[in-house]
Amino acid sequence: MVVIAIDGPSGSGKSSASRAVAAFFRWDYLDTGALYRALTLFAINRDVRDPSHIPALLSANSIKWNGSPDEPQILLEGRIVNAEIRSEAVTKRVSEVAADPEVRKFLLALQRAIINQARSGIVVEGRDIGTTVWPDAELKIFLTADLIARAERRNAELSSNFTHKEIQDSLAARDVIDSNRSTSPLRQIDEQIIIDATHLSLEEVVTEIKRLIIELELSNDGEPRE
Ligand code: C5P
Repeated sequence: MVVIAIDGPSGSGKSSASRAVAAFFRWDYLDTGALYRALTLFAINRDVRDPSHIPALLSANSIKWNGSPDEPQILLEGRIVNAEIRSEAVTKRVSEVAADPEVRKFLLALQRAIINQARSGIVVEGRDIGTTVWPDAELKIFLTADLIARAERRNAELSSNFTHKEIQDSLAARDVIDSNRSTSPLRQIDEQIIIDATHLSLEEVVTEIKRLIIELELSNDGEPRE
């Protein structure tokens, strides 16, 4: 089974690129940020103030992930919450929840279980996949872009009422928390191939990742789509 780890900061285009690569090779896809967001939504709905209390309130099946790259789904207690986990309230709080060691321990086990169930391959995106969740990944990528480019991408995705400055500030605030927490922070490591997407289109990023996968001969298990 092939695991491709794609880490990097918010708004670097990880999700779109990861889904496109997974779809091309007919592999599974895992958005680990969606799991942290689902736990945050749970904490908000249940008014759980201390994130370390969240895991004890969840049962084994509380969070489910459907990793089809064409139609990924995140379920919280049996309900699809794809849209709710992208709300402003969740985005504001998710980095604080994700910094909690109990939360990370709980989701580490869940992420590994999901990866272990993948058929021939899986593209996993997040902040600590290559460093902590799956250090043996066959290919580790750090996908980044400068703050202005990331805010522009987010702005286009959200088509919301936020100003460019507000989106930049929100991304920068999450960067700071995600990079400075004590348990598996967002960081670059030597084995990662760095792709700076500041001046690249999504298509160019996807082409580069596909090229790396083919060059490393990781695609033998999966027949690429036309
Ligand atoms: O990728 P996305 O922006 O949806 O992730 C939301 C948040 O989840 C991040 O800002 C980060 O705090 C947390 N996260 C994490 N580790 C991961 C994936 C996401 O801490 N592997």
